[in-house]
Amino acid sequence: MAEMVKTRIRKNDIVQIVAGSGSGLVKSDTTADRGKRGKVLEVDRAKNRAKVQGLKMVFRHLRQSKDPQKPGGGRVEKEAFIALPNLMLVCPKCDEATRTGVRLEKQERTGGKIKTQRIRVCKKCGGDIAVRD
Ligand SMILES: [Zn+2]
Repeated sequence: MAEMVKTRIRKNDIVQIVAGSGSGLVKSDTTADRGKRGKVLEVDRAKNRAKVQGLKMVFRHLRQSKDPQKPGGGRVEKEAFIALPNLMLVCPKCDEATRTGVRLEKQERTGGKIKTQRIRVCKKCGGDIAVRD
């Protein structure tokens, strides 16, 4: 039984879809995109899900509109939300989908104040995984 790991996925992270490899509790509606990677566009913490660029694309059908600003009907491809447990962070150093740990790093600020930063660490290669803003 896999342990529950608190997801630390943030916006702009590169993630991989791992649907189906988990506990089976997660509805795997992402099977078609399994193994694919993309950049996180948006994280919805409240609902534990995220949108990933180019993954789990859905078509939204548009109605014909009289508004000249929005001509035509047709369909538009958009990203749909993916449950966070179906996503795994890709380590920028070893290029593997990995679980992350956290390393505490104390930084001395000017004035002698010590600030502790939580830095995500790849459990495979031990490298830091920086948050990209
Ligand atoms: Zn790594």
